[in-house]
Amino acid sequence: MSEASVSVRLNPFKGLSGPEGAPVPWNRYGRILDARPVFTLDPLFHAGCYYVQDSSAMFVGHLFRKYAGKGPLKVLDLCAAPGGKTTDLAASLREMCGDDFLLVSNEVMKDRARILSDNVALWGDPAVMVTSADPAAFASFEGMFDVIVCDAPCSGEGMFRKDERARREWSPAVVDLCCARQKRILADVWPALADDGLMIYSTCTYEKSENDDNLRWAAGELSGEILPPEDEFGSYGVELTECGSLLRDGVVPGEGQWAGALRKTGGRRMRGSVVAAAQIIRDRLHPLRYGVNRGVGKAGKLIPDPDFALSLQYDNSYPAIDVDLHTALAYLHHDALRFPDAPRGFNLITYLGHPLGFVNNLGTRCNTLHPLSRRILMDI
Ligand code: SAM
Repeated sequence: MSEASVSVRLNPFKGLSGPEGAPVPWNRYGRILDARPVFTLDPLFHAGCYYVQDSSAMFVGHLFRKYAGKGPLKVLDLCAAPGGKTTDLAASLREMCGDDFLLVSNEVMKDRARILSDNVALWGDPAVMVTSADPAAFASFEGMFDVIVCDAPCSGEGMFRKDERARREWSPAVVDLCCARQKRILADVWPALADDGLMIYSTCTYEKSENDDNLRWAAGELSGEILPPEDEFGSYGVELTECGSLLRDGVVPGEGQWAGALRKTGGRRMRGSVVAAAQIIRDRLHPLRYGVNRGVGKAGKLIPDPDFALSLQYDNSYPAIDVDLHTALAYLHHDALRFPDAPRGFNLITYLGHPLGFVNNLGTRCNTLHPLSRRILMDI
């Protein structure tokens, strides 16, 4: 069995800084690395300058860019944790629509939704709303979304090389169970897709029943037209199946992925702006994250929110201290730091100009505002 490759996708709104590598044919910000670095020890990773994502998984973003159409767009990423596809979609949406989009990034499992929320915070895009709801909860937003991405939980055959657990847990019964669950997820969320809206459906398995058969089932039972896959990347090893594209580990550099697309025929289309849609969802689903939080007022002072430092909307409102690699890692490790020459009060710590977080500089010492949950735990 060949080795799993390592790849990253650079954040185009954070200066395209990150590891060098070979290009990913279907994503201009993707890089395939020669070897796995210790990402934890790279401050740019903590600054949200790039996301570690399998190159095959980036194919879903390619389908999105190909079929999504023009903005403004309201998009739902239904099964979004830990956030690979969501951060890819967010970057594409910002390039396509500027500020005029809403990406609802949902994950039903609460603990995974928190991880997703953290990864969205690092990526920094305030137009991404993170929710944690069952797919059925979206049915009441009838016709709201122009695009729904359903990266469904699956039997995981495409992960066998990388994930021993996926190998151990596989059985024909698991395939049947996944297949039924995927149908249920698609049917539950279907009313939320607008008439003529786009459904991108993907899995990381090679099972026809979970892939082509399910997309064909959705087209027939829920009413949609399958967008025929095109042989754009055949020379890179991407295979065409009946209804989609298949990337096999060992053939392409990354792991296994299948993806196909469907256009909805019939149903409603909810009119209204991105802002109005966000407001409706906010009232009903109580998101974990949305927009920009500049901080909280305390004793007449604004204490900056740690995530404001990472936001694309950060507006240089605090003095910056640009630090070297050693100090950046010490900051992320929550070591005691001193900046006697910097202004007293809140300062932004940057590395190569990229914000990492805030400190409150008392002169003789600093209090960090970097969240404990994101602290580097390993020896630096
Ligand atoms: N899209 C993610 C990414 O790119 O990082 C990966 C998603 S993973 C393939 C599938 C997700 O579906 C998991 O996070 C899992 O918790 C979630 N999930 C599991 N059961 C589900 C269900 N019944 N309905 C919706 N999502 C479910």
